Amino acid sequence: MQDSFGREINYLRISITDLCNLRCQYCMPASGICKSEHENILSFEDFYTITKAFSELGVNKVRITGGEPLVKRDIIDFIKNINKLENIDEITMTTNGILLEEYAEDLKNAGLDRVNISLDTLDPKKYSEITRGGDLDKVLKGIKKMEELNLTPIKINAVLIDGFNIDEIRDLVELTRFRKIDVRFIELMPIGEVLNLKDKNTISGDIVLEKVKELEPTKRDDPSSPAIYYKLPGAKGKVGIIKPVTCKFCKDCNRIRLTSKGFLKLCLHSNEEIDLKPHLDNYEELKEFLIKTILKKPEEHHLEDGDFVSKSMSTIGG
Ligand code: SAM
Ligand code: SF4
Repeated sequence: MQDSFGREINYLRISITDLCNLRCQYCMPASGICKSEHENILSFEDFYTITKAFSELGVNKVRITGGEPLVKRDIIDFIKNINKLENIDEITMTTNGILLEEYAEDLKNAGLDRVNISLDTLDPKKYSEITRGGDLDKVLKGIKKMEELNLTPIKINAVLIDGFNIDEIRDLVELTRFRKIDVRFIELMPIGEVLNLKDKNTISGDIVLEKVKELEPTKRDDPSSPAIYYKLPGAKGKVGIIKPVTCKFCKDCNRIRLTSKGFLKLCLHSNEEIDLKPHLDNYEELKEFLIKTILKKPEEHHLEDGDFVSKSMSTIGG
């Protein structure tokens, strides 16, 4: 499936819920995610119908995200079902890892290929502070479990937060030395809850290279990946830098996002959301609508222009 700029669109990210068992300061308000809104969330049956339609049009990679995807009952059956779709080659998930130890085996058996785990600090107190109450130990046990099950490489996503974890860059990089763990540092995007933070400056991803001088560049094997990868000499894992703010990777963008409420987002940083719900009753019509809609994917985003009404990542699916 090609968009009007010739980009092959093969990657669907599905936010299956906007609820979460944590409250990261840069992502969610301390309270007030309302249950009634949650009633408008698509059913797994609808998520499946849309995924199937996209898979028949050329999507072969699916990432399940949220909110926190593991808080949804029936997630395992959903993965099993999409794993049976002929054209789907890869199913991955982005999770905060809190429930991972408990679900890891079932996720593997259902057909999940890999996980990205969000972890901004290795200090239990700081973890509890940034997530407003999260237990670091649970995440670390989840990571261990994934290693035992060989669901590797595990990707750890750490958002670079001014005044919070810049002093931990070296420690996070060290996780890659002896384990099949890739650590990816992500620039904090000035959207949603970030606008209410005291330290909301985006720290450039380049700081990782300044802090860890011995990182060496690696060959780029996936041009559509927003991460530029480096390695400690002889390390098992890689270190990625993702710069959504100081760099643009729109030219190689292969992804589209489905929100939990059934809207298609063709670009993370665009206000436009296309409602797929009216097209769910007629499968062939849905497919035709998707083919037409994909042509509206913008050439690039204009995050810097300030006309973008930003929502938190928990509602879009990070
Ligand atoms: N709950 C899951 C998790 O935390 O991995 C999945 C959803 S979460 C919205 C996905 C990712 O978005 C997380 O890695 C989180 O750190 C990241 N994120 C949220 N808000 C962000 C922001 N303003 N800038 C950069 N990354 C952000
Ligand atoms: Fe929840 Fe993930 Fe947002 Fe943290 S980043 S509040 S874990 S959705």
